[in-house]
Amino acid sequence: MANLEWDKSSRWDPYFNMPTAREIELDLALGSDSWLSLLASDQPVPVPPPSGRHAIVIGGSMAGLLAARVLADHFDRVTIVDRDRLPVEAKFRDGVPQSRHLHALLKRGLSVLEELFAGLESELLAAGAVRLTGRDFLRMSAAGWARRFEGPPLIAATRELIEWSVRSRTLQHPKVSVLQEQEIVGLLVASDSATVAGVQVRARGSDRHQALTVPLYGELVVDASGRNSKAPEWLEAIGFAKPQETLINSFLGYSSCVFAPRPGFQADWKVLMLGDKPPAMPRAGALFPIEGDRWMVTLAGYGRDYPPTNMAGFMEFARSLRSDILYQTIKDAKPLSRINGFRSTLNQRRHFESLTRWPERFVVVGDAACAFNPVYGQGMSVAAMTAVALNHGLEEHFQRFGVADMTGFARRMQRTVAKASQGAWVIATGADARYPTTEGRQPRFVDRAMHAYLDRVIEVSMQDATVNEAFLRVVHLLDAPPALFRPAVALRALVGGRQPIVDPPIGQRQAALVGQVLTPV
Ligand SMILES: Cc1cc2nc3c(=O)[nH]c(=O)nc-3n(C[C@H](O)[C@H](O)[C@H](O)COP(=O)(O)OP(=O)(O)OC[C@H]3O[C@@H](n4cnc5c(N)ncnc54)[C@H](O)[C@@H]3O)c2cc1C
Repeated sequence: MANLEWDKSSRWDPYFNMPTAREIELDLALGSDSWLSLLASDQPVPVPPPSGRHAIVIGGSMAGLLAARVLADHFDRVTIVDRDRLPVEAKFRDGVPQSRHLHALLKRGLSVLEELFAGLESELLAAGAVRLTGRDFLRMSAAGWARRFEGPPLIAATRELIEWSVRSRTLQHPKVSVLQEQEIVGLLVASDSATVAGVQVRARGSDRHQALTVPLYGELVVDASGRNSKAPEWLEAIGFAKPQETLINSFLGYSSCVFAPRPGFQADWKVLMLGDKPPAMPRAGALFPIEGDRWMVTLAGYGRDYPPTNMAGFMEFARSLRSDILYQTIKDAKPLSRINGFRSTLNQRRHFESLTRWPERFVVVGDAACAFNPVYGQGMSVAAMTAVALNHGLEEHFQRFGVADMTGFARRMQRTVAKASQGAWVIATGADARYPTTEGRQPRFVDRAMHAYLDRVIEVSMQDATVNEAFLRVVHLLDAPPALFRPAVALRALVGGRQPIVDPPIGQRQAALVGQVLTPV
């Protein structure tokens, strides 16, 4: 793990290589030269010369950190601006409220992270994260229990640990620094009215009307400020149109609680996943191991069937799932957190890539561009895939046009960002369309045909290793959804067995431990 010790008496924090909000105010007030790039002027500026090339990233969460990591290979310096104070440990912060809920890192995301930060997986495991394969899962889908095939590996840990590990590694890069407790409130446009020249920064919590807004200039601005990004409004304010949005809301709610297993609890599985069964059974639940030998238990309900946030209601909801095994497992476990609810699970896609006019030097990534219903655990992996695409895009662009010319890059990149999220979008929204309560997308004929085929794939994947692998490769974003239509998969899916597995795939002794009576054979 990264060494987090630093000289706390020093005014500058070498770990983050940054001043605090208060220090910036002081610098500005005193006219210090430590913020040469922050000039107090709201006037349009000439297109800055391409020297001392500086990239700015709005938001220091997963998408922003990963973007910053790859930008550091192409720019002289990279500044991440976040409105939160970023903890120096794996801790909760306000800007990422979803971190109180189940976060798993799919194989695709894991591979990219390892590529960008060699040894990161080992660091995560050393900090208590758990590496899982299909054999560790007791998984009940709409088609019954799944056999425990190997499957692609994934990492289970708290979101705080995953993000903190990535943050530590990103901020170790000598070209990356971070401005904390600073909020971006707008974009700066160059005098050609077509080029983003930087961002307007304001100290967080300062009076909206009186606070000094200072410009920060850069050759590329990447917005990674999440679902609630103000990029559409920022674009409008500098003379561009707002993008169209596709919103698909299945009114899914989460409630999550961290538990300590009851003393002496032992099982030959590590994960419990109980799926919903649309449209009649909108409830689902999952138990994943997290660092500290704890469990993260998340309950979910579609169509406003929100799981309660009080313990009695939480337990009752768990008991009402399609199997009571999750309830039996946690009923004697010790709650270690309060129960947190979460309802911002809307699928939201902003079609920046389709705007007829797009500014130079501005790219929107991560949830700010496309956010999904989180049940498939795709967001961090899509952010990772986008970072790789950003890297390739910059490499290609600079090779063709040289590092001094950014013309056309942002527009091309925005199209690539849209492509990177396409597979995940299809998976998340296709599943949501199965509920009549979902708004924004009612199933069309083609959806119904697709659902019928996918039902077959899922049904057969429960027992057929080949179909299971094909299905999981799509879920883990290793293959795009059309891979499920390859002849080898389609044939097996269409002729495969239909008899569902009715008992969890565990032995008698294991079953007794979690209150299950297996069907006699
Ligand atoms: C309940 C839930 C569960 C999820 N589970 C999973 C999972 O299992 N696996 C998975 O891969 N993904 C999961 N996701 C998705 C994942 O959390 C996100 O996709 C991922 O965090 C990428 O988001 P982001 O970096 O784009 O934005 P966010 O994580 O939302 O971060 C935005 C950042 O921008 C900062 N910010 C916002 N506005 C400003 C501003 N104006 N100025 C400066 N800073 C600003 C915020 O402080 C924050 O740091 C889940 C999401 C939810 C909601």
